[in-house]
Amino acid sequence: MTRSQFWKTATWIALYSAILAGCATGSAQQPAGNSTGTSATQDKSPAAVATGTEETGKTANPRVHEFRLDNGLKILVKQDSRAPVVVSQVWYKAGSSYEQNGTTGVAHVLEHMMFKGTDKYGPNEFSRIISENGGSENAFTGQDYTAYFQQLEKSRLPIAMELEADRMANLNLSAEEFGKEIQVVMEERRMRTDDNPKAKTYELFLATAYTNSPYHHPIIGWMNDLKNMTVEDAQKWYNDWYAPNNATLVVAGDVDPGQVLALAKEHYGRIPPAKVPKLKPQQEVVQNGVRRIVVKEPAQLPYLLMGYKVPVIKTAELEWEPYALEMLAHVLDGSDSSRFTRDLIRGKAMAASIGAGYDLFSRMDELFLFDSTPAQGFTVADLEKEIRAQIERLKTELVTEKELERIKNQVVASKIYEQDSIFYQAMQMGTLETVGLDWRLTDEFVDRFRTVTAEQVQQVAQKYLIDERLTVAVLDPQPINPKSIASNHGGAPHAQ
Ligand SMILES: [Zn+2]
Repeated sequence: MTRSQFWKTATWIALYSAILAGCATGSAQQPAGNSTGTSATQDKSPAAVATGTEETGKTANPRVHEFRLDNGLKILVKQDSRAPVVVSQVWYKAGSSYEQNGTTGVAHVLEHMMFKGTDKYGPNEFSRIISENGGSENAFTGQDYTAYFQQLEKSRLPIAMELEADRMANLNLSAEEFGKEIQVVMEERRMRTDDNPKAKTYELFLATAYTNSPYHHPIIGWMNDLKNMTVEDAQKWYNDWYAPNNATLVVAGDVDPGQVLALAKEHYGRIPPAKVPKLKPQQEVVQNGVRRIVVKEPAQLPYLLMGYKVPVIKTAELEWEPYALEMLAHVLDGSDSSRFTRDLIRGKAMAASIGAGYDLFSRMDELFLFDSTPAQGFTVADLEKEIRAQIERLKTELVTEKELERIKNQVVASKIYEQDSIFYQAMQMGTLETVGLDWRLTDEFVDRFRTVTAEQVQQVAQKYLIDERLTVAVLDPQPINPKSIASNHGGAPHAQ
C-alpha cells in the first residue's frame, strides 16, 4: 500500500509484477494512434564525443563491474548466468521531488511521453519492437527517480540499448501527442487517487506531514497542475534532466561486462553531456507538535495513517539509526510472529489490517509509517491507542534477544531469496546509485542490520517516535453515492 513497503521483500514480488504491468505510480503506457509525432526542438542531437572509459572504484562484489563513459554515463553490470536473459535499466536522477510547485507530476508525464517516439521510431514503436523480440518493458516514476527497463533474451540486448539511447537524446515531443497523453495521465490520477479513498488520504497525509520538503506533493501531481501542464513543461523537464551525465545504466543477467561496455559506448557514447540544474536543499522545517487531519470521502471502511519524521541512510548523522528503525519496523510488522499480527490481528482482533514500515533508501528525510483499518466493532481511535501503547512498550522495554535473532534470520533469508530475481538486483543497484548512495550497500545492508542491538531499537523509539514528529490522518467514510462520484469527476478538459 504505502511506499514504505517498497523495500520489504514480501511485497517485492508484488511490486515487480506491478511494474511489469505498468509504471509503479502509473499505468502501462497506453497504445495510442499511429500518427508520427511532429518534429520538436532537438537540442540534444548526437554529436561526436570521445568515449574513453574508466573503471571507477573498487569492485566489492566480483560479479559487478562499474564503468563511466566520458559523457558521464555511469554503468553497472551484474553478471548472473543462471538463465539466458538480460535486464537493461536506465535510471535518471529526476523524480517528483525534483519538481517545482505548479508543474507537479511532470516527471511522470514525461515518463509517458518517452514512449511517443523519435525521428527514427514513431509513437509506441519502442514497445512494439521490444515485444516482437519476445521482451517486456516498462517504466516507473518515484519521488527520487524515473527509470526505464527492458527484459529480454540475452542476445537481444543491443536492441534495447539502441532504442533507449535513441530516446535519451532524440525524443520528439509534439503538442498533439502531449494533448492525448495528458488525458491518459489525468485518467490515471482519477482511477488511482481520486476514486481511491485510501490513496487520497495518503496523499493529503503527506501534504500535511511535509511543509516544505518536496515529498509534500504526490508523484502523479496535483490535478490542477496536470490540467495546466503544457508540452513546453515536458520539453523543459526532458532538456534539464535527460542526459547521460544524469543517468545510470544498469545491466544484469547472462552478459559479458566487456561486451556491455562496448555496446554502451556504441549507443550511449555519442550523446553529449548536458548542463544539469543544481537542486536546492529544501530541508524540511522543524515540526513543533502533532498534526492531525480528517479526510471525508465516500468509502466502505475507516482508515488510520500515522507518520513520524525520521532520518534515512542518506541523511542520518548516526549511521546505525536507520538500521535500528528498520529493525523496529520488523519487530512490529513483517511476519506472523511480529507484534502487530500477534497482538492486534490475532490477539485482540482489533485490526483488519495493520502495518509499520520505513523506506531507508530515500534521498531525503522520510516518515516512519503506521497504517491500519479497524476490525468490526473497533474505531481508528482504538487503533491509535494500541499503536501508541506498542510504541511506548518499545521505549520502556528492551526487545528480547530471541526476537532480534528471529528477525535477523528472516531478513538474511529474504535477502538470499531476492537474489533469485535479476530484475530486483538491478533495481536495488539503480535505486541506491540514483539517490546518491553507493550500490555496494546492497551487499553491506545485511551486515549492518545484523549489528543492531536491543538498546539501539529502544533509543530510536525514544528519540524519533514522539509527538513532535507525528502526523495523523483519518479517513472518515462517507456514504457511497455512485451519482455524486460520477459528477465529481466529470473529466475537465486539458486547459491549454
Ligand atoms: Zn503512469
